[in-house]
Amino acid sequence: MGKIKMLKKIGLTAVAILITLKSFSGDPENLKNTAMENFNIHEFPALPYAYDALEPYIDARTMEIHYDRHHRAYFNNFISAIKGTSLENNTIYEIFAGISSAGDAVRNNGGGFYNHVFFWNNMAVKSAGPSPELLADINKTFGSLDKFKETFGNSAKTRFGSGWAWLYLTKDKTLAVGSTPNQDNPLMDVSPVKGIPLLTIDVWEHAYYLKYQNKRADYVDAFWNVVNWEEVSRRYQQAMK
Ligand code: MN
Repeated sequence: MGKIKMLKKIGLTAVAILITLKSFSGDPENLKNTAMENFNIHEFPALPYAYDALEPYIDARTMEIHYDRHHRAYFNNFISAIKGTSLENNTIYEIFAGISSAGDAVRNNGGGFYNHVFFWNNMAVKSAGPSPELLADINKTFGSLDKFKETFGNSAKTRFGSGWAWLYLTKDKTLAVGSTPNQDNPLMDVSPVKGIPLLTIDVWEHAYYLKYQNKRADYVDAFWNVVNWEEVSRRYQQAMK
């Protein structure tokens, strides 16, 4: 490739990146009805169940290390990253809506802090299933609950490297499934999948490796035994307001 041709290509790529970034810029209006609207950025919340509560699907040792070491480290590093900055007085939603200008430490640790709280809360020992309203929407969008599980499961299984899969509500209140890399989430202005999150699964190896080793698919399939559909339905009601 000639030098001029190459420079032209680089220029076009830069323009494409800028346009992409602009179209994903934060929209706090869209985040008004997020399910954890009162999320306190200064508090590390307790795990909503015992470490062994989700056995045998998620083992106690994984849960303890995941919550008490990984999650706690994200929280501590997030607090350090925002200390003394104007972000200290912002909501997590304001921070995520402008995450592209907040720096990697805030992005990675703020995401890691929030995503795990969101994840713990969308799991429970027992659940009756989605509310009639949510189930109707799932049937309409994905065909059936099983079809939805397959779509969401595939998103989780095929996320390359570390990240999260999500069920979320788009700006026009449509259910959608997608995944994010690292600790990104659909509330972030940098995310390729944008909207209000309803359900997530952590597919970092630290979430399953002790029990499942390289078998991420088995962990994802087991996840359906511990989904807290009452919480997911509550988030859906809140987001639809
Ligand atoms: Mn994790």
